[in-house]
Amino acid sequence: MSEQIHELIIVGSGPAGYTAAIYAARAALEPVVFEGSFESGGALMNTTEVENFPGFAEGIMGPDLMMQMRAQAERFGALLITDDATEIKLTGQVKEVTDSDGKVWRAKAVILAMGSGYRKLGIPDEERLSGRGVSWCATCDGAFFRDKPIAVVGGGDSAMEEATFLSRFGSKVTIIHRRSELRASAIMAARAEKDPKIDFVWNSAVTGINGQNSVESLTLTNTVNGETEELEVNGLFIAIGHDPRSALVKDQVLLDDEGYVLTEPGSTATNVEGVFACGDLVDHTYRQAITAAGTGCMAALDAEKYLAALAD
Ligand code: NAP
Repeated sequence: MSEQIHELIIVGSGPAGYTAAIYAARAALEPVVFEGSFESGGALMNTTEVENFPGFAEGIMGPDLMMQMRAQAERFGALLITDDATEIKLTGQVKEVTDSDGKVWRAKAVILAMGSGYRKLGIPDEERLSGRGVSWCATCDGAFFRDKPIAVVGGGDSAMEEATFLSRFGSKVTIIHRRSELRASAIMAARAEKDPKIDFVWNSAVTGINGQNSVESLTLTNTVNGETEELEVNGLFIAIGHDPRSALVKDQVLLDDEGYVLTEPGSTATNVEGVFACGDLVDHTYRQAITAAGTGCMAALDAEKYLAALAD
């Protein structure tokens, strides 16, 4: 265990985590930021162009935006740890976060900004064929399906974005949605609907993924009449939303029924003193990069105020 007690540890490196880090670092709190071992930057690392983040009139690529935020946090003195938090202990005045080498980092306050992870369909063969045709990331895997038929599951903005991106590679892209109406915003839906390579299959759920070593077809079950059909595709991109990554803190802070961390109204404070939460980990309504950044800022200001009161 490190003897040092830091002022603040931030767990997470999406727009919420990095914005919290920028603010906390500028407030001279020298925050320690757990960025994750595999890839820092959160969900925006897997997107293409971000058109709606204010300040970038021509748009900016998701990974570029995140690298800018990271550099900005580092510039003001945030200590970026490219590792996962494997254990988090939030009880008592001094909080503890353990890294993957078993080193225990200690701090007076913690900001939870772990974001959310891709939701899974939860059907047989989804795991087995993951990386063999089943994917959650079009920008990562789309190029493997050049001139091949592809399916995208989901009816939200993510599904529209994935399908529109994939249509430049695939011979055809079929969006499979469980209802007859999209959840996606009008602009994203219209873009997919006018793409000549994109088709829609409505009122259908993917109930089977078929293929020995790679995806060869899907079994679709009609959600209205229960009839099944087979759709030949080589790629299945699952874009059905996200679940909050609250597993490490689930028995320590209050969560709602869906696993989102609960915060006090108008604040980022959790029910545990000195523990704040922000970004997609708490937000099942807005879930935008800019709202995550906004709550990251709030969390840093709340933590700063808490630490100042402790020092008095
Ligand atoms: P979402 O809006 O929650 O949509 C998830 C979609 O998946 C819904 O259509 C839902 O169906 C469907 N779904 C959920 N669970 C399913 C299951 N088990 N089986 C089959 N279908 C299932 O999630 P999202 O599309 O990832 O978007 C999340 C947030 O990010 C939204 O606020 C969105 O606006 C934002 N976003 C913005 C952009 C952009 O502006 N460029 C891009 C991507 C995402 P139902 O409709 O029946 O519930």
